[in-house]
Amino acid sequence: MSQPTAANTTAANCSPASEEARAESRYDLRTVAASAGVRADKAHRAVMPPLYLSATFAYEEVGKKPKFDYSRTNNPTRATLAEAIAELEGGAGAVVVSTGMAAVDLVFHILTADDLVVAPHDCYGGTRRLLNARAKRGDLYVKYANFSDPASFDEALAMGPKLVLVETPSNPLLRITDIEEVARKAHAAGALVAADNTFLSPVLQRPLDLGADIVIHSTTKYLNGHSDIVGGAVIGKTPELVEELAWWANCIGSTASAFDSWLTLRGIRTLHLRVAAQQENARLIAEALTTHPAVEKVYYPGLASHPGHDIAARQQKGFGGILSFELKGGLEAAKRFLDTLDIFSTAASVGGVESLACNPWSVTHAGIPEEERREAGITPGLVRLSLGVEAPEDILADIAAGLEAAEQKAAA
Ligand SMILES: *Cc1c(COP(=O)(O)O)cnc(C)c1O
Repeated sequence: MSQPTAANTTAANCSPASEEARAESRYDLRTVAASAGVRADKAHRAVMPPLYLSATFAYEEVGKKPKFDYSRTNNPTRATLAEAIAELEGGAGAVVVSTGMAAVDLVFHILTADDLVVAPHDCYGGTRRLLNARAKRGDLYVKYANFSDPASFDEALAMGPKLVLVETPSNPLLRITDIEEVARKAHAAGALVAADNTFLSPVLQRPLDLGADIVIHSTTKYLNGHSDIVGGAVIGKTPELVEELAWWANCIGSTASAFDSWLTLRGIRTLHLRVAAQQENARLIAEALTTHPAVEKVYYPGLASHPGHDIAARQQKGFGGILSFELKGGLEAAKRFLDTLDIFSTAASVGGVESLACNPWSVTHAGIPEEERREAGITPGLVRLSLGVEAPEDILADIAAGLEAAEQKAAA
């Protein structure tokens, strides 16, 4: 059993930063999720890790810094979560921060003003906004590339980036990037690789095993999985990277609260169970959608027709709980579909136990010029689904009712 709050935290707010800790987790991922921090409490032998809300911790001796001294720098509850996430991703350590965007931005802090970031042209909207804003201020340079087009990617790589950002599967079309190939090429060009693993979680994909140097999470999504906090994490492959990231998180003060960390740790206990149910629901819906007359196109990496199917089958342990599809009737059909759903909430975000549906055209991607949206394959009739853990038969019936409503409009 892991004893995460035990010794050897070498950097602020991170897990044991030793090569040995990374090299091998003694237990299966499911065991790690269920047992992280269990029996680590020395004060009362609490089985489950307690929530330490204290801002500050007393020195035993003048001048002798305790392991935990101030909660911005390091907090026992946050450290337990960081150790669990690091172990799940197979990293040397993790830094737990207040949001997914804080996690993305933390990675940019290891760059200098002369450094170039190569990012996917269809990366997460918040990431694109941040990259553009930081580039505009002169904090870094950014070059966007189509990671599905080797010519586009190689051209960007030839510009000599310090960091290559990968997001796979992409949002909302679930485009798949071959992490191993990107890492091989990026390393040959002298760049670090950071992979945003938010859409799959370590249960289904471990980017460090595929050659990435850094993993980014919006823990808001699958890791917490209950849509009741916003949070983020950055996992480093080496102790040096973890130490640098932890230094910055403490310096800028973006570390997560103890309470959010405690909730996220609680969520992680059932990560593998949730993901299995969500993925099964996604598979059933994807199959039902492919044969429905109201549907123009289905995007789900689990379908053999998906262009990234083979890569996904190789680098992932499953195809995930998110899919999108295009309705023949355009925006009007999408509205009818969404308005008819009963179980699904029409809301942004993904990865929770509750099923969500959204129209990327008018919600998550509304800020992008119309022309660019269409070019990226984001059409008015596109709907993204994030499947929850509800009963498959209820979800299927809800989708069928939505499609019937959408179809009436399409026919009209
Ligand atoms: C949600 C999300 C983020 C941002 O996370 P927040 O917790 O909302 O700040 C970053 N990347 C991806 C892929 C996301 O889905």
